[in-house]
Amino acid sequence: MLQLSDPLWCKLNTAYGFGKDIPLGLVALAEHWDEVAARDLMHGELIHQETCYGATYAAAPYLLKLAEPDCNVVQRMDIAVFLSHLALCAFRVSGRDTPANGSLNGLALTLESWEKTRDPYRSKSGQGTTMQKPAGHCEIMDLELPSDDELRKFEDIRDSFLALLPDIGSLCERTFHEHLEDEYIPRYLLSGIAATEGRGELARLLDSGEDGSFACAACGTSIDYILFGDFMALYFENSEGGPAHTQEPDRALRDWEEGEAKRADCLVKALDDLEDQAEPLVDRLISLARQAENPSVELLLRNFLGEFRCAECDETCKVCAPDKSSPEP
Ligand SMILES: [Zn+2]
Repeated sequence: MLQLSDPLWCKLNTAYGFGKDIPLGLVALAEHWDEVAARDLMHGELIHQETCYGATYAAAPYLLKLAEPDCNVVQRMDIAVFLSHLALCAFRVSGRDTPANGSLNGLALTLESWEKTRDPYRSKSGQGTTMQKPAGHCEIMDLELPSDDELRKFEDIRDSFLALLPDIGSLCERTFHEHLEDEYIPRYLLSGIAATEGRGELARLLDSGEDGSFACAACGTSIDYILFGDFMALYFENSEGGPAHTQEPDRALRDWEEGEAKRADCLVKALDDLEDQAEPLVDRLISLARQAENPSVELLLRNFLGEFRCAECDETCKVCAPDKSSPEP
C-alpha cells in the first residue's frame, strides 16, 4: 500500500484536483470520524458520478483498515457502502477513458493516460491570458511527468487493490449482518459482494434496485424492469406490432406511477430453490438476502437471477447474463 508520506499522492488525481491532501483527510478521519467529511471525501472526491480516480485506489486500503475495529460500527457501515460502490465502478468501462491492459476505471498506468488526467486543468488554463489562473491549476500543470519508478508504483496500487477484493467482500458480509433491519444498506452490500466476485452486471442491477434497465443477452434490446410487489415486470424497447397496450410511450414510467403492471410485456420467471445452483456465490447471496428484513432484497436477487422470453428475438435469456470479463481473483 502507498505510504501516506509518499510524494506520489501529488500525482494521483481526484474529482477535485490532485491528491496531495488525501493523506491528511485519511489521518483526520482515523482520529475523529466525521460523517460529513467522510461523505465528502468518499462520495465527492474519490468517486464522483461513478468515475474513480488514481487516489481512490491508493486510499482504499486505509479506509478498509479504518472499518475493521469492532467498535467502529458507524465507520464500517459508511466505508462498506463506499467500497461496495468502488468494487462496482472499478471494473466499469466509462465512455471516455477505456481501461486497457488490466487498468481500472480512472487509474492511469501510462504516461499518456496520466497526461489525460490533467486535461481538465489544461483546458481551463488555456482560456485567454487576461483571466487569472487558479493557483491549484498552475500547480497541477507544473507537476513533472511520472518517472518509470512512479509508473511502477501505479501498477502496485492496482495490484494491491485487486488483492484487496476478497477483504472488501468479507467486510460487506460482516456489515450486512450488522444492518439486517435497514431498508437499503443490505442491497448495496450484496451488490458489493457480487462485484468483488466478478459478477459486475449482477452488482449493477442490485445497485439499481427496484427499477432500472438491462440489455437482452441475445439481441441487445434495451429492457426496463420494475419490481411490483413480488414479481418483476419487463418493458421492451420498440415492441412494434405488439398488442396496443405495449405501444404507449413511457409505459414503464406510467405503470410505475400507477403502481400496477398494466402495460408490461412479460414477467420474469424468478430463480427458485428447486433449481440446482451451479455457483456457490449464488447460494451465498441468496442465504444472505433471506436474512434481510426488507423482503425486496431477496425478491430482486431471485428475479435478477431468473429468466424471461425476449419479445424481440424470442430467445429465453437470463436477466443477468454471466459477465464477459471478470476481475482477477
Ligand atoms: Zn432479445
